[in-house]
Amino acid sequence: MSKIVPADLKHITEAAKALQRGELVSFPTETVYGLGGDATNDRAVAAIYEAKGRPSFNPLIVHVGSLSAAAEYGDLSPAAVTLARKFWPGPLTLVVPRRPKCRLSLLVSAGMDSVALRVPAHPTAQALLMLSERPLAGPSANPSGRISPTTASHVDEGLGDKVAMILDGGPCSIGVESTVISLLDETPTLLRPGGITVEEMAAVLGRTIEVAPQVGDIEAGLHGPGRLLSHYAPDRPVRLNAASVAPGEALLAFGPNPPQAKIMLNLSATGDLKEAAANLFAMLRELDRPDVTGIAVMPVPAEGLGIAINDRLTRAAAPR
Ligand code: AMP
Ligand code: MG
Repeated sequence: MSKIVPADLKHITEAAKALQRGELVSFPTETVYGLGGDATNDRAVAAIYEAKGRPSFNPLIVHVGSLSAAAEYGDLSPAAVTLARKFWPGPLTLVVPRRPKCRLSLLVSAGMDSVALRVPAHPTAQALLMLSERPLAGPSANPSGRISPTTASHVDEGLGDKVAMILDGGPCSIGVESTVISLLDETPTLLRPGGITVEEMAAVLGRTIEVAPQVGDIEAGLHGPGRLLSHYAPDRPVRLNAASVAPGEALLAFGPNPPQAKIMLNLSATGDLKEAAANLFAMLRELDRPDVTGIAVMPVPAEGLGIAINDRLTRAAAPR
């Protein structure tokens, strides 16, 4: 049965409740349809990656209702505030440092210290943000590798069985993804072209904007992931496929019968990959402590979400 419902107050209220329970809802924005989940809920964010079938954890855009809500989660530099005042609500995403200890799931940032924030202009998206009282992770609502959906029925075809409901707000007015600009360095850098042009932003900022050498949506395969994004890696060496633990090592376990270890966290004692994805970054960080010599990681099956988990663990274990 189709999950498409009209984006009226009754259904937006229902959708907001589903989001608060950790379920996924597809909602219209002015750019494309988003696959929304509570950005403070690790399990909901893991469910987004699972639904999209992404082979790696690319960071997700977090949608918020206002500039002041954005400031709760990100450190907004004067340039960020200038761009936000001019272009929000609208198709501009700002990549900024995460506020330390902010409530956002580490998984939305793929473990990094930055976060991508946007205030969408679409009235349905705005209403959903207000009624759910949650920041919403919202990548495009298409299976990984497929084109972004601009109507509710596109979403239904690709992800209909993965969401609680699809709010139908008609076709998206812009139809291309938001512009993504990084304000992490002194010089603002365009990461993805979109609804707002470099020239428009440069004019507002009164300065030039660097264009990242390879722009495009990582997910669309236009460039190799990891080129633009500096991935989080622990300071301590990471050893994969561990069956036992060496003295001094901490264990990142998976499944019901881990070997004995003095310092151990279990990604999922029941072997649930969604739970493991939800715990991955927080547990890696917690085990990355000065009193351990390394982190031994038990094997995680390379299926479903396990593919993205293994991708990230392999990067964390790569020689540096
Ligand atoms: P989508 O999830 O389809 O809306 O695409 C999100 C885009 O934003 C991708 O191109 C991501 O690489 C980019 N993005 C999201 N968060 C970050 C971040 N923290 N740093 C750099 N790029 C980001
Ligand atoms: Mg996308």
